[in-house]
Order: sequence, then structure tokens, then C-alpha cells
Amino acid sequence: MTKTKQEKQCQDSHCPKHHSLRTHGRTFRGTIIESKAAKTATVQWQRKYFLPKFERYERRFTRIHVHNPDCIDAKKGDIVEITSCRKLSKTKSFVITQKIGLDYAFLAREELLQQAEVQPKEEKVEEKNNESN
Ligand SMILES: [Zn+2]
Repeated sequence: MTKTKQEKQCQDSHCPKHHSLRTHGRTFRGTIIESKAAKTATVQWQRKYFLPKFERYERRFTRIHVHNPDCIDAKKGDIVEITSCRKLSKTKSFVITQKIGLDYAFLAREELLQQAEVQPKEEKVEEKNNESN
């Protein structure tokens, strides 16, 4: 029931499935690292960057803003496929075409980072207060 409702209710005019937004060009797969803004998400994926001096590769990340249609509504930690389309805003020229799965490694890392952030911040505040006094 919910699926059919969502399909009927998709009123996002920038949806490649239910409306006339055409996709073309390149396709990538990445993880959503933020989806707070309405109909917008940030996608990140890894690439290799070759360092000639050391004859080895370095990990680098590509980060872009993508359009997040109503019917897909991808959230933080989702692995998605994105395809280029016409420019939808100043920073968006890609649209999410499908959800592929969950990036468990990313979610686990996020949790650990959050746990680590809580304690050191409090200590730093106390130190600063002591210095000013
Ligand atoms: Zn749609």
C-alpha cells in the first residue's frame, strides 16, 4: 500500500522516474554523508590518487551535492547510484537514480566519531576557562 501511495504522490518535478528530468552522461556510486536539506543530499566516494614520488596510491574522496527525489528519499549511510543531468541549482547537477544498500562501515565509523567527540570537547572547554581565569 505505501509503495503505490508514494508512486502516486511523487510530485517532485525533478524526478527522473515519474517526471521528465532526463539523465545522461556519467554514473557513480557513493555513500550519502548528509541529507538534512530538503531534496538535497551530499554523496561521497573514494578514488585513488597516484603519487609519482612514492609510486603508490593515496586515498582521496570526491564529494558532491545531488538531488534527492521525494520518492527515493535517501538518508545518511545509504549507498546510492547517481547520474548526471541538467543543472538543477548552483551546486547540483546530479540526481539519485536508485538506492543500492546500506554502508555499514560508514555508519560504524560515524558512531565511533560521535562517541569520541563527546568527551574531549568538555575537557577543552574546562581548560579554556581555567586559562582565562
Ligand atoms: Zn518520483
